[in-house]
Amino acid sequence: MLTIAEASERILAEIRQLGVESVALRQALGRVCAEEIAATVTMPPWSNSSMDGYAVRSADITSALRGERVKLRVVATIAAGEFAPRPLKRGEAMRIMTGAPVPEGADSIIRKEHTDEGSKKVEIRDATDVWKNIRQAGEDYQRGDVLARRGTPVRPALIGVLASTGISKLKVFRRPRVALISSGNELVNIDGFDEVIAQRRIVSSNSYTLDALTRVAGGVPVDLGIAADTKASLKKKLESARDCDLILTSAGVSVGDLDHTRTVFAALGGKLKFWKVKMRPGAPLAFGMLNGVPWLGVSGNPVSAMVSFELFVRPVLRKMQGYAALFRRTVTVTVEEDVKIGAKLTHFLRANVTRNQDGTLVTRLTGLQSSGALTSMAKANALLIVPETTPYVAKGSQLKALMLDQSLDETSAFSL
Ligand code: AMP
Ligand code: MG
Repeated sequence: MLTIAEASERILAEIRQLGVESVALRQALGRVCAEEIAATVTMPPWSNSSMDGYAVRSADITSALRGERVKLRVVATIAAGEFAPRPLKRGEAMRIMTGAPVPEGADSIIRKEHTDEGSKKVEIRDATDVWKNIRQAGEDYQRGDVLARRGTPVRPALIGVLASTGISKLKVFRRPRVALISSGNELVNIDGFDEVIAQRRIVSSNSYTLDALTRVAGGVPVDLGIAADTKASLKKKLESARDCDLILTSAGVSVGDLDHTRTVFAALGGKLKFWKVKMRPGAPLAFGMLNGVPWLGVSGNPVSAMVSFELFVRPVLRKMQGYAALFRRTVTVTVEEDVKIGAKLTHFLRANVTRNQDGTLVTRLTGLQSSGALTSMAKANALLIVPETTPYVAKGSQLKALMLDQSLDETSAFSL
């Protein structure tokens, strides 16, 4: 059996970045930039005011610094979108609005609260703004500066930066298309819910959780539905997954079913790399290559399927999309209850991590830890990692937890 790290390494070694596509700038959000973008202009293009006030020459107001009254002639008003009609001369001031270009000759903007706000003449009552309130041309970026590189994740601010330099289309890595195949004679989709009411079938909840996890990881789910527990059915489904970037199957990889899956997979030309990892839940995890397309087979147990996805599938999808950071973050938490662990394996326990008043992170389990109990997964924002060397976790112990979402950030959000 492989360790988690070995399994992850062996999977990722086979995964390459996908190809590149050009998308409209707004659609690039959440993608990874696949080209170097250099600034086509300089920002800001001209020195401009960061205040509503008066553009002046510092030499004219030094006496105001010593507490003397200084009066200047107001010779123009410059609004944002306008330019000064002429340079500023000695003894003059121009009214100026935030963002408006600073007239030639001016080196200070006196905010209007520090003046009498006069329109023909203005009295400077406080000269502490001398030399201030001017955003220099090019202080944000200069023409030719590299603003994004191959591998830069595209976030809202970068979209704004790229817009400011005229980029309307951006090359990004493709989103992986993920073929989702559930298998099992006991399964139906929600539209077959009559069978569930009749107590003959269960809903293939994996078809929904794996779809959702794929989307969260930036992939595009391609639902190929439910395969029956026959070789013919599984073969048909695997064949129709050909044009996808990843094949993700659930169930049929535990010991009882493995030969069945392996036979079909091998018959189609698949090369199995491994099928078991030292962890719980999610020990059955098959990985192989099917005619150049990676295949990951996760356990059918609803929680095992999700845990395997978080640990092994998500990093694959991120690597394909060009991300350098593949793994979710872990945090150190104090466990607030005693926990008894069974087998000598790394355990991932469904837990809720919160922040105490004093800032420390604490955690409690969210309920039944059976690999079929999905409601405790639905309540969890983290997976508490219990190393295989720890058969018993005493209350107060410190362990690592793998954060599954941003809920922790939200609990410590700064209040407005
Ligand atoms: P298997 O991996 O086929 O041994 O299935 C393990 C457990 O997961 C069984 O209890 C199955 O009924 C259940 N299971 C398998 N596939 C799914 C699925 N797509 N959705 C929900 N439960 C499933
Ligand atoms: Mg089954």
